[in-house]
Amino acid sequence: MPVVNRIADFSEDMKIWRRRLHQIPELGLETVKTAAYVTEILEGFGVDEIHGGIASNGIVAIINGRGEGPTIGLRADMDALPITEPEGAEYRSTHPGNMHACGHDGHTTMLLGAARYLAETRNFAGRVALLFQPAEEVTGGARIMVEEGVMDRFDIAEVYALHNSPGLPEGAFLTAPGPLMAAVDTFTIHITGLGGHGAMPHETRDPVMAACGMAQAIQTIVSRNHHATEDLVISVTQIHTGTADNVIPETAFINGTIRTFNPDVQRMVMTRLDEIVKGCAVAYGVRAELDYEVGYPATINDAAKAAFAADVARDISGASQVEADGGREMGAEDFAYMLQARPGAYLFLGQGETAGLHHPDYDFNDAIAPVGASFFARLVEKAQPVV
Ligand SMILES: [Zn+2]
Ligand SMILES: [Zn+2]
Repeated sequence: MPVVNRIADFSEDMKIWRRRLHQIPELGLETVKTAAYVTEILEGFGVDEIHGGIASNGIVAIINGRGEGPTIGLRADMDALPITEPEGAEYRSTHPGNMHACGHDGHTTMLLGAARYLAETRNFAGRVALLFQPAEEVTGGARIMVEEGVMDRFDIAEVYALHNSPGLPEGAFLTAPGPLMAAVDTFTIHITGLGGHGAMPHETRDPVMAACGMAQAIQTIVSRNHHATEDLVISVTQIHTGTADNVIPETAFINGTIRTFNPDVQRMVMTRLDEIVKGCAVAYGVRAELDYEVGYPATINDAAKAAFAADVARDISGASQVEADGGREMGAEDFAYMLQARPGAYLFLGQGETAGLHHPDYDFNDAIAPVGASFFARLVEKAQPVV
């Protein structure tokens, strides 16, 4: 069973919604215009309830099916990125400096497409809760929604989400029966030495050398302290210091990202980072402060729900287009918090050979919107058939 016919019928409408959303990209929790537009469209479909103001500018909409049954949660993220869209792009962002470069305009559109179909047909039991969340890229809008009690308030039993995937064939699905995406932590190191003349280093305590030494030593956590068969990434992504060729600066700043799946590995990294920063500070004669910020947890699918979602994906795109055990990757995703609260699954939906996520040339592929909407719609009908 390919894309749902009724959804294919209104695919041109979906393109219009998607491109309108693309023109009004908003950051973080401040998805004000986006939420207003989504609300306006949902009202036109005749969904049963619309609750705004959740996690600042998130929305939960309810569609009642026929007869008793559980509530199934379907989630889309709505926020954009602080990237300037290239000039000349079609339906270019009207918010300078902001851009939908992760395809969340497409995710929102796919969930709207499913909402339209489900509100028209109601060929399912129980209820559907449509979760439109802000702040996936930063802050963790999903975490805030969970902390605000969305799962209990709307009696949600299970949750599902999709993310588009450049490089995966158009319309193909990929998921995994357990861990899918990593936990992400951030470390920041502030080094204070003693600045001075570049020609008289013996009179200084050079934070540049300390920063270089720390960055090198931090990489040995992966290569020397860590079991080779476990997943771990540590990337030093920023070192800032200095102002001139003949000045040894007073301070230096280091920052980076840590990706793990296993909490034991995460704890080991915290301990070793602390030891390395303290040890290097002594060795280089500087002071150093480490800030370790724990971020999104690992995104872990429920095995049975992931298998079920893969079955639904096969109904839509065919067995050859579905990878049910596609391995894990080191990216991160705040849907992890919803999966901690309820069983469910997160899947990637291929959007073909396009620019990568977060690249200024990226654009969501409108051709996959009916595929994603059909996936959500069939998932509900298959999970909760009318009896
Ligand atoms: Zn992103
Ligand atoms: Zn994204």
